[in-house]
Amino acid sequence: MTIEVSRQIRELRETVARLHSELTRYQLVAWTAGNVSARVPGSDLMVIKPSGVSYDDLTADTIVVCDLDGVLVEGDLAPSSDTAAHAYVYRAMPEVGGVVHTHSSYATAWAARGESIPCHLTAQADEFGGEIPIGPFALIGGDDIGKGIVATLAGHRSPAVLMRNHGVFTIGRDARAAVKAAVMCEDVARTAHLARALGQPVPMAQADIDALYHRYQNVYGQQPVAPASS
Ligand SMILES: [Zn+2]
Repeated sequence: MTIEVSRQIRELRETVARLHSELTRYQLVAWTAGNVSARVPGSDLMVIKPSGVSYDDLTADTIVVCDLDGVLVEGDLAPSSDTAAHAYVYRAMPEVGGVVHTHSSYATAWAARGESIPCHLTAQADEFGGEIPIGPFALIGGDDIGKGIVATLAGHRSPAVLMRNHGVFTIGRDARAAVKAAVMCEDVARTAHLARALGQPVPMAQADIDALYHRYQNVYGQQPVAPASS
């Protein structure tokens, strides 16, 4: 392991430990049922939550390092039971740097019905570029969950998939982006649920969804400022 990879692992263990507190802050998880991982750039490694450790006890030292087959490489604890799914996503999608899994209530209620979330909100168009899709039912253990995530999200704008009868998996260029997608997915799922309960949501034009998505992905937020010329 090079010095650079060791340094990246140290930083990512800190980051991933800290990001788990966002799952509790936004009430996306009950007990220990949710996890964050990050790819270690320039290596075939990932860092991920240990299995069954409560969020209050997560520190950088408890976060474990696995290879992209999900085999433990460094750490004192067993990796998350969802490690195989995270590892499969990293193997199949080289652009992905972070993966998050939750059973957040509203989004998982859509997953329980096997229904994708149609795009009726500008916030959903911004972050997800359209519907949040449903993935297949898959049992935990082998590569089936990972295969279902990749088959659904490859070529799709949405960074979130609702795995049928299970819960949410999100991807991002890094772990923070995947956590943000998990937070936004639950927010959109809650509003969509309320809108449906109150009546029939009003459709949005595809051209408007496309315009919102393009603007948010390319223009929104703090852009690098060009140095002033004298
Ligand atoms: Zn799960």
